Amino acid sequence: MNGMFSARNRGSVLRAMEGETFDLLVVGGGITGAGIALDAQTRGFRTALFEMHDFAFGTSSRSTKLVHGGLRYLKQFEVKMVAEVGRERAVVYENGPHVTSPEGMMLPIYREGTLGRWTTSVALAIYDRLAGVRPGERRRMLTAEETLEKLPFLKRNGLLGSGYYVEYRTDDARLTIEVIKKAVEAGARAVNYVKAERFILEGGKVAGVEATDMLTGREHRIRARKVVNAAGPWADTLRKIDGSPKGSTLRLTKGIHLVFDRSRFPLKHAVYFDHSDGRMIFAIPRGCKTYVGTTDTDYDGDIAHPRMTKADQAYLLAAVNGMFPGLRLTEHDIETGWAGLRPLIAEAGKSPSEVSRRDEVFVSESGLITIAGGKLTGYRKMAETVVDRVARQLAKEGIRIAPCRTRHLPVSGGDVGGSAGFPSFVERKVHEGVKLGLSAVEAEALARFYGSNVDRLYRLADELRQEAGGAPMPLPVLMRLAYAIEEECAATPTDFFLRRTGWMLFDLPAVMRYKDAVIESMARRLDWTENEKQRHAADLQQAVEEATVAVGRESAH
Ligand SMILES: Cc1cc2nc3c(=O)[nH]c(=O)nc-3n(C[C@H](O)[C@H](O)[C@H](O)COP(=O)(O)OP(=O)(O)OC[C@H]3O[C@@H](n4cnc5c(N)ncnc54)[C@H](O)[C@@H]3O)c2cc1C
Repeated sequence: MNGMFSARNRGSVLRAMEGETFDLLVVGGGITGAGIALDAQTRGFRTALFEMHDFAFGTSSRSTKLVHGGLRYLKQFEVKMVAEVGRERAVVYENGPHVTSPEGMMLPIYREGTLGRWTTSVALAIYDRLAGVRPGERRRMLTAEETLEKLPFLKRNGLLGSGYYVEYRTDDARLTIEVIKKAVEAGARAVNYVKAERFILEGGKVAGVEATDMLTGREHRIRARKVVNAAGPWADTLRKIDGSPKGSTLRLTKGIHLVFDRSRFPLKHAVYFDHSDGRMIFAIPRGCKTYVGTTDTDYDGDIAHPRMTKADQAYLLAAVNGMFPGLRLTEHDIETGWAGLRPLIAEAGKSPSEVSRRDEVFVSESGLITIAGGKLTGYRKMAETVVDRVARQLAKEGIRIAPCRTRHLPVSGGDVGGSAGFPSFVERKVHEGVKLGLSAVEAEALARFYGSNVDRLYRLADELRQEAGGAPMPLPVLMRLAYAIEEECAATPTDFFLRRTGWMLFDLPAVMRYKDAVIESMARRLDWTENEKQRHAADLQQAVEEATVAVGRESAH
């Protein structure tokens, strides 16, 4: 990537951008903005993207982390959306099997439940058909005994059986970063910690943005023919700056997740089950942990730092203890958790769970294009719709249009021979990693996590070996850190621990073990002053508190 996505080069990339006029500037580095930047750049548009925090800081690191068609939306007869989004599952999987993987999902059926055996079977069959599910992954109906074999801790009373089907599990923040990296590999410019403050207007039309580098305080003016607002929960804020909204476009609802150790919540298969109020809850195994979610409540507090409340926790604990009564989970068993905001399109008179998850494009008088709503899973299709629109507008200005190219385009790290080739790819890379002196377990973990980019980490091994010898950080951790800084624009320790590795949520002991060494190493590589070092250390501490102690604290508006 020629250093274009190195955290060391953020400043110089930004300065160089001031001398250019981009075809398209995307504001927002969540999955929506990432998808648009990739689609646009690969069609030949000169594309830029700004993110005011870290990439995937917003909703795109705080979802249920599933690539799914939204089975429950069938209940609301959102057939078109289920069909469209459901079909995208296979596309997302094939283009990045290192970041998305199939996950067997159980749907338990109870005598007193909202779905009977027959309705579940029919609903899942419709889902198979709508989502174009592959033959090997189509639904199966299990008896009560078969269900308990797979889920021995499940409530037995009234159990009639279950539906077994396949969804896909992902790491939302990593999916986002892999999409942005691909866009940058294709020539796009993407910079984190740059906030679009105001729009540049020419003849009443948006012609770029005035932005602030949040790490240095410097101001930048970046010109672009078209600007897309992909600011997720902040979309209305940007529309207000543009002077465009007639009332609120969005309705924000909060959803939280709780993480337990597998020893306290042993789960072999993901489960999708009814809460007593009829809402559906996921419990999903992930490595040594199990996580549970989610809630759905209206929200009007601080958008950047939604917090979970005692009531949110109690709601999920009641759901889990109702379905797995023997576990007797309490708040003391909660290890970590996160809260995210759904940027839903406002619909009057509906409860949070009833509001549609559809996406919509709004074009203001100034020409600002806003994309709002939608799901992680449908990001590629959403991007196609938006860029088609931009392409039609630019065509009027004589700029050539190419068709969308992302359907069969692997994301960064996804050149592994598709899902079918991934296992043999991993095998080969384990072999190579062992030759470099890694253990087979370390090499496999790296190959699965980084996909084809593992070669770039392997290339760093030799030069880092010496540093690792004297550092309180094993070589594989140092390789991850150096790669995150140099090729994934990780600019702070929190970027590394929360959104580049996911350890903050799923391996907190690793954060505690390596945090001092990571701060020292980043300070050296990024030339921090003592003040900057202290500030980033304090931010990391706050992020750890948010992921742990903040569980139970009321939202501070
Ligand atoms: C609890 C929950 C569970 C979910 N589960 C799933 C799921 O399992 N599967 C699924 O498919 N979908 C799921 N979703 C939906 C999905 O997560 C979202 O649709 C998606 O992440 C939204 O992405 P986005 O890019 O639009 O918004 P965001 O990820 O929030 O990105 C917007 C970005 O814009 C940036 N920004 C804002 N203003 C500015 C500015 N002025 N300058 C620069 N940058 C700016 C923000 O910092 C932010 O990072 C879930 C959502 C929630 C809340």
